[in-house]
Amino acid sequence: MLRARSSVNCGPSRQASPTSMSNLYPSAPPAPSAPPPESVPFVARPRLLAVGRDPVQAVCNACQKDVITEVQFEWGAFTVCMALPFALFCLCCVPFCIPAFKDAVHYCPHCKGFIGKDKRL
Ligand SMILES: [Zn+2]
Repeated sequence: MLRARSSVNCGPSRQASPTSMSNLYPSAPPAPSAPPPESVPFVARPRLLAVGRDPVQAVCNACQKDVITEVQFEWGAFTVCMALPFALFCLCCVPFCIPAFKDAVHYCPHCKGFIGKDKRL
């Protein structure tokens, strides 16, 4: 029932230490930095689309979905400029209430991200 223990070596292994010169680069050294792939040119998507006053089909910059934009009319420089002549007739608030005097701002209906703006001025 006694087994011979001569074949089992419980001592420290005889493997090379990690700091030995032969073990610094166990595999092939890394290839030199590859040149940038020029076969696939990067075409930057324009951040602002040429949009009009009506909802348009566009790709959202944030969520990359193909969406029909939501248009909100917001005050712009044209709104303020038009308020001055209306102020002569004490109607300076009229341009702030009529969408025709405002900028059309297009948003993504999914993520509410800004897509584009149609400025009146
Ligand atoms: Zn989106």
